[in-house]
Amino acid sequence: MGAAKGCLPWNKGLRAAPKGRYVVRRVVGHPRASAPNHGVYEHVLVAEAALGHYLPEGAEIHHVDGSRTNNANRNLVICQDHRYHFGLHVRAKIRAAGGNPFTDALCGGCHRVLPRMSFTPCRGHLETRVSGRCRECTAAWQRNHKRKDTRTRASRRIRRIIRLVLSLTAAGVAVSVEA
Ligand SMILES: [Zn+2]
Ligand SMILES: [Zn+2]
Repeated sequence: MGAAKGCLPWNKGLRAAPKGRYVVRRVVGHPRASAPNHGVYEHVLVAEAALGHYLPEGAEIHHVDGSRTNNANRNLVICQDHRYHFGLHVRAKIRAAGGNPFTDALCGGCHRVLPRMSFTPCRGHLETRVSGRCRECTAAWQRNHKRKDTRTRASRRIRRIIRLVLSLTAAGVAVSVEA
């Protein structure tokens, strides 16, 4: 299905690849230090220095410019949890695609940024409250799916008839099938 592998980036280049690797520092005894090297992300340490205490459990740090190596104070946003952090990324993606992060949404099918009215409401998507694909893409998918579905149902019926005929002939019953 779709283009051959390697022709296009999997997301058509819409999601910016994270730039660089996180900077890690060695801090023995830090609650977020990972074994065995006591590594702690530098952005966590910068945020904690600004806060004056350890980050609460579950809190995450967002890099405003998308660069993982830019741990300047003003490039970091402390997020109370993953949901808040994820929301920042959703809005940044909509803005990067030229949309309004509060009224538009990005379609995961056609990759267009469209007003939220072009999507079906979906409470599961906490940030936009609309489905991941626009109405047009959803309708196209459903058309496709329905066609495939009838095909399988038809072939299932044919297979059932063949099985019946085979079992009858095995039982010694003469069967004539009319076309
Ligand atoms: Zn982030
Ligand atoms: Zn779409």
